[in-house]
Amino acid sequence: MIPYGRQSVSEEDIEAVAAVLQSDYLTQGPVVPRFEQVVAAYCGATHAVAVNSATSALHIACLALGLGPGDWLWTSPITFVASANCGLYCGAQVDFVDIDPRTYNLCPQKLETKLIEAERAGKLPKVVVPVHLCGQPCDMAAIYALGQKFGFKIVEDASHAIGAKYQGEPVGDGRYSDITVFSFHPVKIITTGEGGMALTNHPELALRMRQLRSHGITSDLSKMLARPADEIWNYQQFDLGFNYRMTDIQAALGVSQMTRLTEFVEKRRMIAARYDAELAGLPLQTPWQHPHSYSSYHLYPILLKLDNTGLCQRQVYEALHAAGIMVNVHYIPVYRQPYYERMGFRERYCPKAEQYHKATISIPMYPSMTDAQQSQVIAAIEKALWV
Ligand SMILES: *Cc1c(COP(=O)(O)O)cnc(C)c1O
Repeated sequence: MIPYGRQSVSEEDIEAVAAVLQSDYLTQGPVVPRFEQVVAAYCGATHAVAVNSATSALHIACLALGLGPGDWLWTSPITFVASANCGLYCGAQVDFVDIDPRTYNLCPQKLETKLIEAERAGKLPKVVVPVHLCGQPCDMAAIYALGQKFGFKIVEDASHAIGAKYQGEPVGDGRYSDITVFSFHPVKIITTGEGGMALTNHPELALRMRQLRSHGITSDLSKMLARPADEIWNYQQFDLGFNYRMTDIQAALGVSQMTRLTEFVEKRRMIAARYDAELAGLPLQTPWQHPHSYSSYHLYPILLKLDNTGLCQRQVYEALHAAGIMVNVHYIPVYRQPYYERMGFRERYCPKAEQYHKATISIPMYPSMTDAQQSQVIAAIEKALWV
């Protein structure tokens, strides 16, 4: 059985985790800040806040930006539900901007059109969440320019994209956004088991997110309000926060994984290059790459072009599963989930996203995939398409 994605854990990773297990701190020790520093330095950001998932990072990012009831958050429909749910957690309303059919990312032209309409209706979004689908960065310069014009904040959902570059610079450097979020779930580029991080160059946003990560509490004496001198106040709560903390055990795995990030991405890109070459000529579209982009290739989605084959997406999906190739679909448009349909979203809301969903299949892509396994995947796709 060949999965669509999987983690790559080395002996060094295991030793790093074991060392924390034998140390004084399992959580809130020295390793979480070290992991934050390593990721911030790699990406060229000034602040990083590690949390227990990207979902948590998206939530506290939106809260730090002041998203709340009466506000709107916009994102792409082709993403994991967490990119939209974070708006609902804050009591805001969520809307979707259709994708660019070349990159499958949120389309800046459609964003602009929708912003002009929203301005007329007095319903401009407070936060826009572009998602770097599969690790290919969105057109951030264009989205940022619209943010300046229409006054929204930007949270990059870079769950797929640590190690990717936009215009030659690392995703996460914050040139074109307020906050960038990474995921360290095992199928993503690097892993901490579960985990996420929010990067920003704004000290006040970092401070706010740090507090929200741990109950809204601070133990920093300089930040605390004066209290009677004969009472003990070694912490004070200022916000309604959460327990979204990452453990030192997870962070140790993260620090160790970071030493191989470049290698992981290079390996993914080699696998992509072989797919590009060997799948050409089949009735499918391989992922087109924008010249501004250096993708981390979290996923490798093929778009089936089955018009002249008599086949449907589901048959190809099932044929590959039967051959032990555990392909997946990324993603069902978020607004077509029953929970979102209950809010009134209907089919055909974002036609390009729906066309994509009905043709896409994510084929195996992970750094430890062998040449022989990749040959098996390619052969199974050829067979499933009857060529
Ligand atoms: C995986 C993922 C998330 C959520 O990540 P967790 O770390 O599992 O919470 C959010 N957005 C996107 C696009 C993802 O792929």
